[in-house]
Amino acid sequence: MREIERIKANLHTKNANEKEFLQATDEVLDSLAAVLEDHPEYIKAGVLERIVEPERVIMFRVPWVDDKGKVQVNRGYRVEFNSAIGPYKGGLRFHQSVNLGIIKFLGFEQIFKNALTGLPMGGGKGGSDFDPHDKSDGEIMRFCQSFMSELYRHIGQFTDVPAGDIGVGAREIGYMFGQYKRLKNEYTGVLTGKSLNYGGSLVRKEATGYGLLYYVEAMLKDHGEELNGKTAVISGSGNVAIYAALKAKEMGIKVLAMSDSNGYVFDPEGLDILAIKELKEVKRLRIREYVKNHPKAVYHEGSSGIYTVKCDIALPCATQNELDLNSAKALVKNGVKVVAEGANMPTTPEAVDHLMTNGVLYAPGKAANAGGVATSGLEMSQNSLRLSWTFAEVDARLKDIMNNIYQTVATTAAKYGQKDNQVLGANIAGFIKVADAMVEQGIV
Ligand code: NDP
Repeated sequence: MREIERIKANLHTKNANEKEFLQATDEVLDSLAAVLEDHPEYIKAGVLERIVEPERVIMFRVPWVDDKGKVQVNRGYRVEFNSAIGPYKGGLRFHQSVNLGIIKFLGFEQIFKNALTGLPMGGGKGGSDFDPHDKSDGEIMRFCQSFMSELYRHIGQFTDVPAGDIGVGAREIGYMFGQYKRLKNEYTGVLTGKSLNYGGSLVRKEATGYGLLYYVEAMLKDHGEELNGKTAVISGSGNVAIYAALKAKEMGIKVLAMSDSNGYVFDPEGLDILAIKELKEVKRLRIREYVKNHPKAVYHEGSSGIYTVKCDIALPCATQNELDLNSAKALVKNGVKVVAEGANMPTTPEAVDHLMTNGVLYAPGKAANAGGVATSGLEMSQNSLRLSWTFAEVDARLKDIMNNIYQTVATTAAKYGQKDNQVLGANIAGFIKVADAMVEQGIV
């Protein structure tokens, strides 16, 4: 469609250096031709031009002092992308690869993901090029305090509610929450992913991984299959991967391999997930250490090799563009049935094409990993109500939300004549909800 091509060309000219952002916008825009034909009001109201432009981009200096007394400077970001259906909501990522294009791609994806949850949350994302890996606890605290010393002016429980992402877990959220409270002298649910000691929600830590498995369960059920007895590989060994693996095992799936950014461990009899959790979450060691106490397992250097392991289900839960065309070919050759994304945009466009043309059930992250932000939404509700729901109650709501997301995505894809095209279903369903709100609110 000419309108879409014009907007894409303009975006590419204006944001030439932001390849991940362009990858994300191209994918969404390419899904929307049929919707725009049905809804000329979106074109009239300039919804496409507006939705690809962040409402606000904040970039700031984060100075801090390391353990040797040396001054370090990192760059901080918060992209407040779209507030049509609620306050900006989305995580903070601390990783050396972070740049504006990565934060914009994540913020853009977040708009549609949050809309799919059915909860009133707009889209945003933030972070820093700070690398927490080799830092002491004191250095992490000083960095987080400095980061929040600027960010606090821009966020608030009714404005923008950040959460965690890569490199930002309960420890970092705690330090940032403490600094926010100190600067504002107010106690509000301004961050989610908080510890249970001061306003966190049960199930938030587990939510993205658990939600991913609930989504896959709904998808397989819809295709007359069940999870019990299947095999899986799960990339990464962070927050999303660990809880996806634990839920997978509980559902009767044998998890054959997991990774970190250096390599992967493989055990044909299935990995001991609790040992991996202890290794990564508590001891903060590399995954290669696993084989020391598990002699049947083998460690392979190089993380992308994980996709050469024969499995029924692949769950990429590490980072963007980690599953490329070669990996997709290896998976298809080995008879994979399902690829469902726990990470954001982990599969390259060429790999997605290859999987879908070969009949693999492919679930995009903005649908399949929405359980994390959905449970953040539930944490916000509990903070506002000044109540805490039980584990069972939050888990049941999460399961319900993931089932609903799958049904919405599948129904939308079928309605637009592309059954099982979950990329199209997720993009259209998320877009329509936000676009309608934008039209109703006028040109803002
Ligand atoms: P964590 O920081 O907890 O874990 C990230 C994991 O991925 C680590 O094990 C890391 O290993 C590994 N990793 C990083 N790069 C690579 C690579 N190139 N190859 C293999 N492994 C790699 O982050 P999360 O688990 O929170 O996030 C993972 C993904 O899920 C991200 O894409 C994030 O945006 C997405 N996501 C997260 C949500 C959440 O609630 N946390 C919600 C929705 C999506 P290493 O230790 O070596 O760096």
